[in-house]
Amino acid sequence: MTGIVEEFLALKEGTDADVLAMQVGDFYEFFAEDARLVADELDLKVSEKSSHGSSYPMAGVPLSELTPYLKSLVERGYTVAVAEQRGSDDTTREITRKATPGTLLEATGADARYLVSVVRDGDAWGLAAVDVTTGAFHVTELAGERTALAELGRFDPEEVLPGPDVRDDEGVLDALREDTDATLTVHATDAFAPGRATHRVREQFGDGTLDAIGVAPEGAGARAAGAALDYVEETGVGVLASLTRVQAYEADDHVALDPTTRRNLELTGTMHGERAGSLAATLDHTVTSMGARRLEAWLLRPVQDRAEVARRHDCVAALAGDALERDAVRETLDGAYDLERLAARATSGSADPAAIRRVADTLERLPALRERLASSPALADSPLKGILDRVDAEAAEDLRETVDDALADEPGGETGIFARGYDAELDRIAEEHDAVVAFFDSLAERVKAETELSRVTVDRNKTDGYYVQVGHSQTDRVPERFREVKTLKNSKRYRTDELDEKERDLVRLEEERAARERELFEALREEVAAHASLLQDAGRALAEVDALASFAEHSSANRWTRPELRDDRELDVVAGRHPVVEQTVEFVPNDARLTDDRRFLVVTGPNMSGKSTYMRQTALIVLLAQAGSFVPAESAELGLVDGIYTRVGALDELAQGRSTFMVEMQELSNILHSATEDSLVVLDEVGRGTASDDGISIAWAATEYLHNEVRAKTLFATHYHELTALADRLDGVRNVHVEVDDESHSSSASGTESRPVDERNDGESVTFLRTVAEGPADRSYGIHVADLAGVPEPVVSRSRDVLAKLRADEAIDVRGGATGGEETEQVVFDLGSGELRTGAGADGGAGAASGDATAATGADPEAGADASAGAEADGGRAGGEAALDADARAVLEEVRGVDINNTSPLELLQRVNEWQKRVSERDE
Ligand code: ADP
Ligand code: MG
Repeated sequence: MTGIVEEFLALKEGTDADVLAMQVGDFYEFFAEDARLVADELDLKVSEKSSHGSSYPMAGVPLSELTPYLKSLVERGYTVAVAEQRGSDDTTREITRKATPGTLLEATGADARYLVSVVRDGDAWGLAAVDVTTGAFHVTELAGERTALAELGRFDPEEVLPGPDVRDDEGVLDALREDTDATLTVHATDAFAPGRATHRVREQFGDGTLDAIGVAPEGAGARAAGAALDYVEETGVGVLASLTRVQAYEADDHVALDPTTRRNLELTGTMHGERAGSLAATLDHTVTSMGARRLEAWLLRPVQDRAEVARRHDCVAALAGDALERDAVRETLDGAYDLERLAARATSGSADPAAIRRVADTLERLPALRERLASSPALADSPLKGILDRVDAEAAEDLRETVDDALADEPGGETGIFARGYDAELDRIAEEHDAVVAFFDSLAERVKAETELSRVTVDRNKTDGYYVQVGHSQTDRVPERFREVKTLKNSKRYRTDELDEKERDLVRLEEERAARERELFEALREEVAAHASLLQDAGRALAEVDALASFAEHSSANRWTRPELRDDRELDVVAGRHPVVEQTVEFVPNDARLTDDRRFLVVTGPNMSGKSTYMRQTALIVLLAQAGSFVPAESAELGLVDGIYTRVGALDELAQGRSTFMVEMQELSNILHSATEDSLVVLDEVGRGTASDDGISIAWAATEYLHNEVRAKTLFATHYHELTALADRLDGVRNVHVEVDDESHSSSASGTESRPVDERNDGESVTFLRTVAEGPADRSYGIHVADLAGVPEPVVSRSRDVLAKLRADEAIDVRGGATGGEETEQVVFDLGSGELRTGAGADGGAGAASGDATAATGADPEAGADASAGAEADGGRAGGEAALDADARAVLEEVRGVDINNTSPLELLQRVNEWQKRVSERDE
């Protein structure tokens, strides 16, 4: 016979799991390497086990305590195989289960836990995402790697199964590692085979399913789905039956949000990775974990479908309009259990009687909620009612009644699992059992009454069974029928024939009762499991109402407003706020207006003036609206978008130690490729991660491309003041600037110099952050990187073109300019002074145009500061007369623009001082 350790090692050999837990009697044991690993990870004690002359480390946990250890190991990213004994007599073992991050049923907390299988078939990508804890199963097919990876990331998967074509693609694998924390698992190649996978899907969801949901048999989506099913089955988690429905969706059902955008907008976590301070955390007033999960899913997947968006707004409006009714609805939901998770647990057989009780307690909320909705006219007229109508009320009530009739109020307590009257046989056994228990309970009293003994106790232990214990002082008085079984220091223990018989009855009845209860409970659990899809429907309905009520709650508490959905692409936000920032500071509201002929806003303003916040707030307002929420604004008219793309310049991200100029360019490239005229694009200091002249060139070319070709609604905050020149020349480009009316916000110059200097103003102190820029002799380094990163060729070559002209101090033609083909507008920058001239000859007339361009952002103190800083650095005035005029004119414009009635004397003084400085520096 081989030893236990040898058996362990053989089983371990045959599994690809990282760790093996093997049942040995009442324990799960880990041996050898695995013992050391779990000891380190879980703080278990290691002992030594010798076998066949060798000694092995060994660690163990009691059978009943495996779950928390399993969970901890899996959450640390290990897969754990569990080997169990085949039976109580058969002590050989087999692996019955493999716990993996993506199939961990024991998960707690509200978050969804996805396993995503990904298949590539040429340019077609298939994704299948399954959450075994809730039975959610989604399939989609997408075109192109970028789209597929962005969508995959949106599930924030715990585990990814890369298909055969994906496994060897280092680029894809790197992206997966970068964008997700998922464990990558190689699953059997066969499982991804078109025929087998398709068959697997049909087996699970029914023959007609693929047709019904529009997923092509043997296509990438079907292959991903089949492989995911196969894997879930292989892990032995036992939830296949709770995967009742596969939902297919198309990429354009949802608003495109790439991983960078989700991170930049801090949807579910802040830049520092914390949940607190994220949009989801700010908005979450749900009262159930299903609701919290739904709310988060909505924020990550705003929808493009106008009717669906409007439906959610209607619901939120109804709930926001009546605080009392809303409270009542939320109270009805409060404490409802997670039906989706309970369904999975019933199916896998891991639900205990208390869990089944919770199913009934939660189903009870449905009619209560229905009544609540019906009793308020506003709610009754809203689409809220339709949400509950999706649940089969009768079936739900039947199931609730079945469970309610079956179970005791507190199943598992003194009275057993089941209610009296549920099962005649169980009642009979229980009655007999109770009688015998009563016999033993009253035995001591009876002995006292029937004999002269007073120091009598009755008890039970493992070796002696039941016994009557009599103190030594009275042992001479025990009746004859008492058989002595043991002598202790102060007493003796006795048994009688009656006691023997009753005890045999007791043991028999205990077993019978337990067996009958087990039998009935399994039937009941199966009955509940058979209704998995009903429970999922009910859970989803409750979740939806909860999430909508949460939107409504937040809207009322923060004076949010219902957005008006437009038919065109325009966006008009009046007095908008940032949904998260407004929670912590006295927020200054801002307007935002984007239309087809005002589709590209160049946002300028000093550091810390609020540019980034303004742009993010605009993106978030759009996102919130399409997620179904009201928005933080006085009013908002919004055309629906198909995607939101944001990119923050490398310098800002570098400060957080996470990005490079290469990544910045890759993401810019992604935006230029993916955005459409229905998208919203936010570029924050893009191009800033490199030397200024090629940074300007890239920004310039990207602006032209976005404006002329992509035509997306765009907000572009930039330090490259030169870009403001484009506003007068491209018909859809406008300048806006952030005005600073708080002296603590005023800041010194920074911007176009080649050494990037950023400053952070956190109230009182200003800290300067200096990053040594890449400084190769070839100063078009940035454009090389842009090229490498896949920025569209026209943009790259145009950047080179702009750069060459910049350097040669030559006129740059503005492509796609307002003046059209006849008379191409031209702009000349002086790199030394940062000044700008227009027109081929930069004559007086063009100088006027330049003056206008500067005036457009003239109130921006930074503008002047940049120029003077440049002049200082250069020690000359290469810009010549025109440049000087322009600056003087800018000051003049500012003087004209001062609102005397609304400016404090102190601030006026400061501004006059600044103007003086700017003008006198010029005169030196
Ligand atoms: P910028 O991008 O111009 O450097 P930020 O958008 O990063 O500036 O904002 C700087 C600071 O000002 C942030 O701490 C932000 O919370 C605050 N802030 C921005 N906009 C507003 C506003 N409209 N009202 C109040 N505080 C704001
Ligand atoms: Mg900023």
